Amino acid sequence: MKPLLSTFMLIQNLIVILMTNNKLHATHAHDLLGINGGGFSCESWLLGVETNNLRGWKTVPRGCESFVRQYMIGKRYGDDSAVVVGEAEKYARGLKLGGDGKEVWVFDVDDTALSNLPFYAHRGFGARAYNKSEFDVWVNKSRRTALPQSLRLYKTLLSLGIKVVFLSTDFKHDRDIISANLRKVGYITWEKLLVRIHGVKLSTISFKSSQRKELQQEGYKIVGNIGDQWSDILGTPEGDRTFKLPNPMYYVN
Ligand SMILES: [Mg+2]
Repeated sequence: MKPLLSTFMLIQNLIVILMTNNKLHATHAHDLLGINGGGFSCESWLLGVETNNLRGWKTVPRGCESFVRQYMIGKRYGDDSAVVVGEAEKYARGLKLGGDGKEVWVFDVDDTALSNLPFYAHRGFGARAYNKSEFDVWVNKSRRTALPQSLRLYKTLLSLGIKVVFLSTDFKHDRDIISANLRKVGYITWEKLLVRIHGVKLSTISFKSSQRKELQQEGYKIVGNIGDQWSDILGTPEGDRTFKLPNPMYYVN
């Protein structure tokens, strides 16, 4: 066989394999989400997630597990996070501060300040359901690392004179664990670390909004708010400007 012809056939075969693989992903995701008519790619699923058009999903679509794995451990997750943080820093540097030290920036904790990626890596990057106690045991061992882009934003904000408030939906008994974990990875100081009190049953949006409202009532000005879930940044008062970090591994109502 002539070299040119064999190269052509090799490329043709590769195209067929890629098309089949893509169709397989689309079919699985399509079936799982129960959307009628026309397949879609895992990229489209990701866009739906990040734009908050797809809500209430429990696990990553079966056909998108390898896509999410590649997204998370490849360059893309870091790059997408860096775009968000770059914009947040640009915005923060342009702020005219009042000089009274009352400007604060609210940070979510899970997969914003601290990364749970190693935990989800062992559970199919969100494709497999897990028991809450499994997660608690893992967190108790303080294995969380900093999300590098968030730590960079944190340092930039402190250098500008903007204080940081950590706001977590974790409960009060986890406060010391979170605090130790934050310090261990480089978040050395903060204005407040707000957690939930046991027995208070509120949705994430209601709880986080109420905490931000209290901050305002205490005289703080929330200049920024960053989280990996839409429930971190929706609800009044949301802050002067909100930033959504990517997270295709799970959805919090
Ligand atoms: Mg989070």
